[in-house]
Amino acid sequence: MVISERLFHQQSLYCQPETIYTCQSSWISTPMPDLCVMSHTGKAIELPDETLQKLASRLHGDLLHQESNAYETTRKVWNGIINKHPALIACCHDQNDVITAVNFARTHNLLLAVRGGGHSVAGHSTCDGGMVIDLSRMNHVSVDQAARVVHVEGGATLADMDQATQAVGLVVPAGAVSDTGIAGLTLGGGIGWLRNLWGLTCDNLLSADVVTADGQCITASHAEHPDLFWALRGAGGNFGVVTRFTFRAYPLKPDVWFTAVYHDGRYMKEVLQFYREYSATAPDEISTAAVCGQFPPGSRDFPSELHGHPYVMIVGMYAGSVEQGQKVMQPLRDFRKPLIDFSKPTTHLEAQKFFDEDYPAGELRYYWKSLFLAELSNDAIDTLVDHASRQPSPLSGIEILYSGGAVTRLDDDACAFAGRKARFLIFVESNWKEAQDNDANIAWPCDLISALQGGTEGSFYLNFSSTAEEKESTMRHNYGNKYQKLVAIKKRYDPTNLFRLNQNIKPS
Ligand SMILES: Cc1cc2nc3c(=O)[nH]c(=O)nc-3n(C[C@H](O)[C@H](O)[C@H](O)COP(=O)(O)OP(=O)(O)OC[C@H]3O[C@@H](n4cnc5c(N)ncnc54)[C@H](O)[C@@H]3O)c2cc1C
Repeated sequence: MVISERLFHQQSLYCQPETIYTCQSSWISTPMPDLCVMSHTGKAIELPDETLQKLASRLHGDLLHQESNAYETTRKVWNGIINKHPALIACCHDQNDVITAVNFARTHNLLLAVRGGGHSVAGHSTCDGGMVIDLSRMNHVSVDQAARVVHVEGGATLADMDQATQAVGLVVPAGAVSDTGIAGLTLGGGIGWLRNLWGLTCDNLLSADVVTADGQCITASHAEHPDLFWALRGAGGNFGVVTRFTFRAYPLKPDVWFTAVYHDGRYMKEVLQFYREYSATAPDEISTAAVCGQFPPGSRDFPSELHGHPYVMIVGMYAGSVEQGQKVMQPLRDFRKPLIDFSKPTTHLEAQKFFDEDYPAGELRYYWKSLFLAELSNDAIDTLVDHASRQPSPLSGIEILYSGGAVTRLDDDACAFAGRKARFLIFVESNWKEAQDNDANIAWPCDLISALQGGTEGSFYLNFSSTAEEKESTMRHNYGNKYQKLVAIKKRYDPTNLFRLNQNIKPS
């Protein structure tokens, strides 16, 4: 964002702390300068001590500013390329805190970011100079085992939810890296190892408690505010702050069969063709991905002679009995005798963490792009193979995710999510270490996606998008004939675009 970057580079826009406020009350532990906070129009707004004090005293959680002890650790987000400094962070403790913070941001016209798990690749959950509503302390999960219903607070992670549900033999379909936030994942869709059997995360949302821009807390479900409920399932954080999600859960025993086979990258083309054919007839219990990458240098998981060498991997889980899973996934292990085969029975909780180490928080720079494809043509495979051979960082990769079963059986109009009928999601992830390599690593996914698009814009997955400000035309194209409905819903629930730090749908 141009305005944000300007603020970040010109710290002089902040008021100088001439008068240092020494706080007597318990709400703040460090001296408090007069603060200038960024408005949503880019103006610096001066907020006097009393105003901030009043806000802090109304919060059960903490109000942090740049001098606070916890500020530095709290402001950081997962993507190391995002380095922003909000003026205020409201660490919310409960729904009332969220209402207070939303009312404050709206009343003072502040630039506002909302943070759940902080894993937005584009860095939407923070900002320079504005205010962040941080829900990370609101991570409680409660499970109604008999009703198979799970309530999840807006700051919970996948690990929080998976641990609580698996403790009683249940599961909610979600994503596959355990410290990802449930909030952003669900609002954008939610694609994981259970998708083909039980659908996307948003398909299993029963209701959501939402604090809207006017500070009201409403419940959205099929019965109440169905328009809002429709939009929340796939159009991101545009419509309010979700303080609690209620999901449908399913029985899943802790032990599952997990397949992970690595082939020499020289056979990428034929492995991808095989993956395409296998996926078309695989039972719904199987959800998989093909991944093209390079064996990471220095890794203890792979023999050193393979480090830096290209691979193509097929990885996935069977949601059912271990024996049946081993049997029906055997063709994946038999094909072409893999270089390495990590397939084994494991627990669902472990499967959810299989990729955790590849995505360390704060250490790497990440730039991701994606594209839904109706089919995986031979031409598309040729393009993938060609670009895989040119990835600038050995930590990067291309994932090809087959989607079918419960995802594609649902009507396209069931909710806002775009791309439901596509059979494949191409997910290109640039992951690298040094700032000097930014340009090459940002160009690589962009080039690959535009080569696959062949000059036309295709739908992308909101949650795998690094672009901080999508053009209106891109969003319009992405949602197609759902776009005007989304604009009308945005206008109804957030007419001033208070919630604008997301893949934004403008209210007019
Ligand atoms: C390592 C990694 C692995 C991933 N794996 C998967 C995967 O397997 N499957 C998949 O589908 N996706 C996956 N994703 C993508 C993930 O779904 C998105 O990055 C998602 O936005 C993360 O949500 P979050 O709450 O952590 O993010 P945040 O950065 O906190 O927020 C993301 C967006 O949601 C908004 N938001 C956050 N909380 C709320 C709330 N309570 N109410 C309203 N709006 C809110 C924010 O304002 C922001 O616009 C992965 C991402 C990462 C980084």
